[in-house]
Amino acid sequence: MRRKIVAGNWKMNGSRDLAKSLVGSVRSGISDLDNGAEVVIIPPALYVRDVVELAGASVSVGVQNVGQWLSGAYTGEISAGMARDMGCEFALVGHSERRQLFGETDESVAAKVEHLLSSGLTAVVCVGETLAERESGKAESVVAAQVRSGLAKVGHDRWQQVVVAYEPVWAIGTGKTATAGDAQAMHGWIRNQLAELGAPAEDVSLLYGGSVKADNAAALFAEPDIDGGLIGGASLKAEDFVSICRAVPASI
Ligand code: PEP
Repeated sequence: MRRKIVAGNWKMNGSRDLAKSLVGSVRSGISDLDNGAEVVIIPPALYVRDVVELAGASVSVGVQNVGQWLSGAYTGEISAGMARDMGCEFALVGHSERRQLFGETDESVAAKVEHLLSSGLTAVVCVGETLAERESGKAESVVAAQVRSGLAKVGHDRWQQVVVAYEPVWAIGTGKTATAGDAQAMHGWIRNQLAELGAPAEDVSLLYGGSVKADNAAALFAEPDIDGGLIGGASLKAEDFVSICRAVPASI
């Protein structure tokens, strides 16, 4: 079954105090949420323990990145197993900031996905084209390549643990959102790629990310192939994030 998910990526923002107060406010803000959406908070890794302790049953927790190895001499890295050990259920993989600033490749994405799935986590695999790629007509081929190589090693029984987040790079943190129609078109294209990979494509959740706000979330989430959102800036304000969680229609 297709999961409906709203995930807040806090990136490298905030403080321990802010993390604690934000998770508390989100938890109470969604206490009567009845649209079936899974709410996920993805704080900086150092705050995971506090957030897990305060999240309660209605909020799941994730990490923003894991290493591509199981364990060993990889100073500064954390593993999928460690994230699981600390109570995380989700992990982002291949966020555009990691691809652009930290040399994340489709190969490392595939390795991380494999470790996350075997550790029992849900991998939120981020894909998306740059503005130059969109303007030169390559958006679809770029996204298809990211999907196909990042998910190449997913076993047939693991697709329920895979979520794809389409995040056009030009929309992240810029205030420019893809139109609901353009986002839907790319989500449909991603679903086709998944089907060709042998996935149960209709059951895989596809999130949209890129300047989703309280006032544009409902239009995006109303599209048939948009199953929720990956939210950056707006997830740092509890009220805005809760409104976005509420914008998920009960029927998708
Ligand atoms: C993100 O970082 O994944 C993101 C979508 O950020 P924003 O919502 O701020 O554009």
